[in-house]
Formats: sequence, C-alpha cells, structure tokens
Amino acid sequence: AAHTAPAYPWLASYPPGVDWAMQIPVRPLTALLDEAVAANGDRTCLNFLGKRTSYREVGRLVDAAAHGFQQLGVGKGSRVGLFLPNTPYYVICFFAILKAGGTVVNFNPLYAERELVHQIGDSDIDLMVTLDLKLLYGKMARMLAETGLKRLVVCSMADILPFPKNWLFPIAKRAEIAAIPRDDRHIPFARLIAGGARPEPVAIDAREDVAVLQYTGGTTGVPKGAMLTHANLHANTIQCATWYAAKERRPGEGAADGPGDGQERMLGVLPLFHVFAMTAVMNFGLHLGAEIVLLPRFELEQVMRTLQKERITLFPAVPTIYTAINHHKRLKDFDLSSIRFCMSGGAPLPLEVKEAFERTTGCTLVEGYGLSESSPVATVNPVVLHADKKGSIGLPLPGTVIEIVSLEEPRRVLAPGEKGEVCIRGPQVMKGYWRRPAETAQTLVDGRLHTGDVGVMDEDGYTTIVDRIKDMILCSGFNVYPRNVEEAIYLHPAVAECVVAGLPDEYRGQTVKAYVRLSEGQSLTAEELTAFLKDKLSPIEMPKVVEFRAELPKTMIGKLSRKALVDEEERKRTAA
Ligand code: AMP
Repeated sequence: AAHTAPAYPWLASYPPGVDWAMQIPVRPLTALLDEAVAANGDRTCLNFLGKRTSYREVGRLVDAAAHGFQQLGVGKGSRVGLFLPNTPYYVICFFAILKAGGTVVNFNPLYAERELVHQIGDSDIDLMVTLDLKLLYGKMARMLAETGLKRLVVCSMADILPFPKNWLFPIAKRAEIAAIPRDDRHIPFARLIAGGARPEPVAIDAREDVAVLQYTGGTTGVPKGAMLTHANLHANTIQCATWYAAKERRPGEGAADGPGDGQERMLGVLPLFHVFAMTAVMNFGLHLGAEIVLLPRFELEQVMRTLQKERITLFPAVPTIYTAINHHKRLKDFDLSSIRFCMSGGAPLPLEVKEAFERTTGCTLVEGYGLSESSPVATVNPVVLHADKKGSIGLPLPGTVIEIVSLEEPRRVLAPGEKGEVCIRGPQVMKGYWRRPAETAQTLVDGRLHTGDVGVMDEDGYTTIVDRIKDMILCSGFNVYPRNVEEAIYLHPAVAECVVAGLPDEYRGQTVKAYVRLSEGQSLTAEELTAFLKDKLSPIEMPKVVEFRAELPKTMIGKLSRKALVDEEERKRTAA
C-alpha cells in the first residue's frame, strides 16, 4: 500500500534528510546482529578492559552459546534471566538466548534479595546467567535455594580479561571469586559453548515474539515486565540510526567516520540491562559496526581515561555522568576532542550541564526522551549542533506520534501550549505488561502509551517535559513542578546537583524541599540560595527547606533518585 504521511503540523520542523513516514522494517532483532557480523568481520566489536573481540568472533560465540542454550531446553516460549554487569558475556548471552528462540529477562546486578525473589517469581524463570564473582554468584546461589530457579550458567571473569590480567586475576582476586560447586545445576559458560555447533534455526514472529522482559516500576506500583517484542527493539534501533544519519559532519568527518580508521567508538558505561543502554549502546552500536568499549561500572577517573585513550566518538549517558565530567577538577588535562556525539536520556538534562559539556568537548549533546515501555526512545532533538530547542525533549522519531492528552479526560488530545499527559504511538511501543492485563489496559489506551509524564508541545511540535505526574507537589492547592525549581537552583554556580521533592506538611498539604550537593571547594548557605532564587521562583515554589549533602542518592543507571530521598523522609517520620 502507498505510504503517505499524515498532515501532522510538526512535520514542518522535521530535520532535512529524515523521512517521518519511512517504512520501518518488522524484523527479528537477531537480524541486526547477523548483518553487523557479516558487514564487519574482523573489526573489533567489543573491547573489555583492553581485551578485544571481533565481530566475527562475537557471531561465532553467539551461535555456539545459542546451540548450548537449546541443549538446555531453551526455545520458543522460554525465558532466561541475565544477571550480569557490562561484560562481553552480556552481549553474547543476550543474542544467544534470542537465537535459541527464547526471551531475555534483565536483572539488575545490584538488586537486593527481596527484589530478586520478586522478579524471579514474577517472570517465572528457572535458568539464569551470572558471573563467578562472589558478589553476584553469592546472591544467585541463595536464589537456587529460595526460588523456582533450577540452574545457573556461570561465566568466568578471568576468561574475559586480557593477558596478563586474566592470568593474574584469579590469584590477586581470589577473595572475589566464588567457588562454584560441580553439579548439574551449575553450567560453566565454557561448557555451554563447547559443542561449537550452530543453533537449530527458529522461526521468529517479530511482531508477536517477546525478545525482552524489561522490569520497570512504570507509572504505578510494583515492578512489572514490559514485553518488548523483536520488532519493537529492532524498530527503535533503526529509528535512532535514521535520526543520527542526518547529523551534520564537521570538516574531515566521513560517513562512518571514526578518526583514522573509519570506525565509530562507543563508550558503554551505562548498564546494558537498562533499556537505554540496551538500545542506545548495544543495538545501535552493533548496527553502526562500532567498537563498543565496555566498562563494568561508573567510576569517573576510569571514564575520563577511557574517553581519552580509546578516542571515543559516541558517548550516550545520563545527565549525572555529564555533570560529573563537567565538575572534574582536572578536566583541562584530558583530551576529549574525539567525542562527536552524545545522547542524554533517562532524566531531564539541565541546560547548564548541556552547555558546559558542549563547550568543553565541542561535541553535540542532544537530549532524548523515552521509557522502558517504548524500547525506550520516543523523541530526540535534532542532531545538528545548537539547532535543538533548549530544555525540550525534541521531536518524535520517524514513525512516532506524540500527543498530549488531558489529565482529566485521557481520550482528549490537547492543543499546542496546553499541559497534559505525554502519550506515544509508534512501532517501539511495548506489547503490554507481562501477565498484568489490568495495568496493560490502563497504560495502553486506544493504541496510545500513557507515559505518566506531564508535558507540553509547542507550535513546532517540540515537547517539553514538565514533570512526572506522581512527582508533582501540591502546595496550598497549587501545582509545583520539582523540575522547574531544580532548573532554577542549577543556575547557581556553586551547585553541582540537586533534587527537589514534596514533603507532607500539615498546613500546606505538601512543602517544597531542596537537597543540594555543592561543587568541590564551594560554600553556600540556605539563606544565600534563597536570596539567589528570589527573582527566579514564585513564593509557592520557593524551597522551604534546603539540605546540603555530600552525596545524593542515585538509581542504578545513575539518575538522581527522588524516591530514595522521599522514602528516607518517610522512615524518619514513622520512627519519630
Ligand atoms: P525508565 O523506564 O525507568 O527508564 O524511566 C522513564 C522515565 O524517565 C520517563 O517516564 C520520564 O519520567 C523520565 N525521563 C526519561 N528521559 C527524560 C528526559 N529527557 N527528560 C525528562 N524526563 C525523562
């Protein structure tokens, strides 16, 4: 059928070279890996602390592991857990499970036991992949005893380190490595791939078959599994790549243009089990034929050294990471000139942070927006330097429609300039929540994904997120949006990070509290901050309490955690 673009007014703002109405292919996610392996052969695919694995080798290991998983009974309809930090094993096992016909269930390696028990039970899995580090294996050994988990595939840390680290590691780090019992509940990764055979081909129905169960708190309640199909994840990669392809090139930049050898180099410091890195680092990186430089956790010095040494060109991250770099004491000592493109997502990017980072590196730092339920990317700013709209999350990706609907009447689409709930339609929107029809029906209404975020769209189609519905502070009957207050606080030069939250208050209903971390060597009092904010905030928005802290709590992916602070206040109140 002919494919014609509907007359969305915001199409007029669309970047040149990007076709909104493009046919987005419906394909299994494994096709993306197969193509990358075929196109990139001996180029480095994964670089883990100096150990390089080529595309060809990744392809071979994925096939061998997929065959191994099939021998263990994994096939269509099975689910397998991944309990792994960023290592080559993550990428290999992720695609091997898909090739075997199964579904990946991502687990956060820092989960507490209670969270693990919930997610293992809810996803109903009996097989999990983990690493032989005590920190990880120890938790899984207990899960074998306490949950329906029956078998573990155990990967060896020493096996993926470069020489001589691989050789020294088991000696130096004996205390960190777990003794793995030799019984049939424990399958060493080396044995999984020992057959070296290729998997039995599995017919994937890309639109229906779930590639990943991505657990998320969503807009309400307990963590639930967003069912992301093969087509969802494949589409989102292609949507992002199409958008990125329109990036203007600086003189000397070619098409697939890393410095020197023509290969992009992507820093993978965000955890791959989180939906943002799964798409923006792993799938997008593979699609570009990039060298993906994996770091197992965020450590500022190591990130700085890696950016410089590996001549990183692409650097997706969350705002707190860019903030940390901006505030690095010896920032000027590092050569960050290889970085060309950065995508910030997962949380609002304060303007100050964006501008300072672009000034330092000369790269483009664009802000995108999305959530687990949309694989995750839904909107991005144009990739042309300084062509984005300040503070906005940009325009919908190709094939995506953003609508702002009334908070009172969720089926009424609002006009530009009106505040309401941000809704998404597009090929990246999940199939539903795993075994939760009621929550699915609340979230997917008339083909629209209700995000739980309040936003407003301008005449040109750019959306600005005001806040999450559940974070809104109701103060003496007025709505206060924490984000607005945070933006004002960030304007103070001594401030490194801040979180604003609503605390229960007898008189006002809720009162505004600001938690602030200052940059190193800076000092500021609550009175000075309030005086600074006087002409920037209304009296209702003005923080009634300011608390300075040396550290602010963060979620696993590095977003500042308002929830942790609110929970802490709640505990203090109940204890009092
Ligand atoms: P998660 O599914 O855990 O990744 O969380 C998704 C949520 O992060 C969204 O619903 C938003 O509230 C928030 N978020 C993501 N990107 C942005 C952004 N660029 N600006 C503001 N909030 C964002």
